[in-house]
This record gives sequence, C-alpha cells and structure tokens, in this order.
Amino acid sequence: ITSLDHVGFSVSGVNVIEDVSLDIREGEIVCLLGPSGSGKSTLLRMVAGLTPPSSGRVLTDGKPFAPGTNPATTVVFQTFALYPWLTVLENVELGLGGDVPVAEKRRRAMAAVDLIGLDGYESAYPRELSGGMRQRVGFARALVVEPRLLLADEAFSALDVLTAENLRSELLRLWTSGEVPTTSVLLVTHGIEEAVGLADRIVVLGRAPGRIRKVLPVRLPHPRVRKSQEFQAMAD
Ligand code: ATP
Ligand code: MG
Repeated sequence: ITSLDHVGFSVSGVNVIEDVSLDIREGEIVCLLGPSGSGKSTLLRMVAGLTPPSSGRVLTDGKPFAPGTNPATTVVFQTFALYPWLTVLENVELGLGGDVPVAEKRRRAMAAVDLIGLDGYESAYPRELSGGMRQRVGFARALVVEPRLLLADEAFSALDVLTAENLRSELLRLWTSGEVPTTSVLLVTHGIEEAVGLADRIVVLGRAPGRIRKVLPVRLPHPRVRKSQEFQAMAD
C-alpha cells in the first residue's frame, strides 16, 4: 500500500497542495482528475520522490523512503522519453538499472515486452514505431521492475484517440486478468471518460478560494463491475 499522509506542497507562500491523504491499495488503479493547475503533476512528483513535500509524508507499507526518488515507484512519461539510439529491448532493460546481471536483465525485459504486446519488435528502434508502440515501450520500461506503484502523467495525451483507447484497453486487460497483481497505478488525466474507463477509484483535485486544494475520493462502480451487474440482471 502506498499512503499519502497529510501531504502538502507550497511554494513562495502559496499552497499548491494542501493536506492530501490517500491510500492506494495493491493492484488498484487510481485516476487523478482535476482542472489545469490544481496540482496533479506536483502530487505525482511528490509520490515519485522528485519533489519533496512541504508537509506530510509518502509511505510504502507504512515506511517512508530515503531522500531521493521513491524506489517503490516507476514513471511513464507523456512524451515516452526513449533513447533513439537504443532498440526496444535495450530501452526496456534500462528500466532495471546497473546492478542486475546481464542475462537476468534480458530475460526480464523480454517478459515485459511480451506482456505489453511488443513481441516481435525487440530489435526495432523507436523511430520505426508508431506513437502507440512507443508508449508501450514506455510502459514496458516502467513495468520491468515490477514496481509497487506505476505513476503516469497524461500518458495517453500524446496519442490519437483510437491509439490511446487501444492502449488503455490493453492495460485494463492486463490489470483485470491479474497479470500484474501487485502493481498499483496512479494515473493523472484530464479525461473523465479515460478515468471512468480505467479506474477502480477516481480522486478529484479541486480548486477552492485561496488556491486551496483538497482531494475528493469518488467511488464509481468499475466498468467490469457494471458489466457483470448487467449480465446478472439479464440472467435474473
Ligand atoms: P495541468 O493539468 O495543467 O498539467 P496540474 O494539475 O498538473 O496542471 P501542476 O503542474 O501540479 O498542476 O501545478 C499546480 C500549480 O503549482 C501551478 O500553478 C504551478 O505553477 C505551481 N507550481 C508547481 N510547482 C511549482 C514550483 N516548483 N514553483 C512554482 N510554482 C509551482
Ligand atoms: Mg500536470
């Protein structure tokens, strides 16, 4: 479980994030919605350990992490951030860092590439891939370490509508089929439909007078739950 424990961020006396507490459970997909400037990216950066909170703490299973990046998390970037001179497999291997033996690196990178539907593209270079395939590489590189929490900030917004929809349903398939049972997701998005389609839980960052923001957890039935309820209703 990743916990945000009364996390706040202020800069030059202005509150960007105020007193946000949130538990992200194992395997859960949480979407973070909110107007532009409401502090979504700031919150994500604090969870990743890229921005130190002004107050409160980020905990994994109740424990804080040492100053620096949060080792329980990996990040998927909006603009993919792939190395153009490295192949798909090499880009994914980079997610593992230096202290993993070469053979194990290769094996785990192959598994991540397969998982996300990139098999056959291992030796391709990013320039040879479509935007959707490139973002699959971004997800594979983030998933290869089997992180406790995958962080994504507008990970689909650089893709066209159909490609984004394809990748989202692929991810939903992975998470609902239990192929990544222990990884949770915190996904920042502007798209309400995207959030409703993917999330187990939606958290809304709001704007209030005085630039004070709060989280409002909204629990909606997940589409797969709604579907099974519909089937149940038909069977009855
Ligand atoms: P968008 O939807 O446009 O991406 P967002 O919800 O991700 O917006 P943030 O990027 O988190 O919003 O920014 C929230 C507010 O905090 C903005 O007004 C931003 O200028 C301010 N802010 C964040 N970090 C800093 C910083 N280090 N210094 C100054 N201002 C900051
Ligand atoms: Mg942002």
